[in-house]
Amino acid sequence: MDFDKQAVKFAADRMLGKLAKWLRIMGEDVIYGRHLTGSGLIHAARLDGRLILTRDRRLKQKQPPDFILVESDRCREQLRQVVNACGLDPLALAFTRCLVCNAVLEPRAKDTVEARVPPYVFSTQERFFACPRCNRLYWPATHHERMLEELRRLTPLETRN
Ligand SMILES: [Zn+2]
Repeated sequence: MDFDKQAVKFAADRMLGKLAKWLRIMGEDVIYGRHLTGSGLIHAARLDGRLILTRDRRLKQKQPPDFILVESDRCREQLRQVVNACGLDPLALAFTRCLVCNAVLEPRAKDTVEARVPPYVFSTQERFFACPRCNRLYWPATHHERMLEELRRLTPLETRN
């Protein structure tokens, strides 16, 4: 299969919640939900041309659009399989998408968020982002470092700088 690296969007089977979350951490467009299994998953993927991620071997019999049969039951290996199959850059778009509703985050001026963040965060952070859908606020925090470390492990050695 040959995927368009720029435009690939995903529909993750409901059993792949953790994988879906990590793809969103990478900034990838991935829908995920309880209804996304079997025919529901195929329908949703067809609706806006999404690549299906599934562990369901029987899905093949339902004539799905393009799909990746995820081999491992471990999230790290699953992520590696998808990154390699689609030629994704794990760091290029990291932390640009809401982890809850999949919307692309928008920058917010620091002075507009003061009432909504803890004083320590306000005094130590300069860059804030908000989800246009759920209004959740995001800012670089210590857990980002651990997530980045995880993403760096997915990047092929020869492209690391
Ligand atoms: Zn959101």
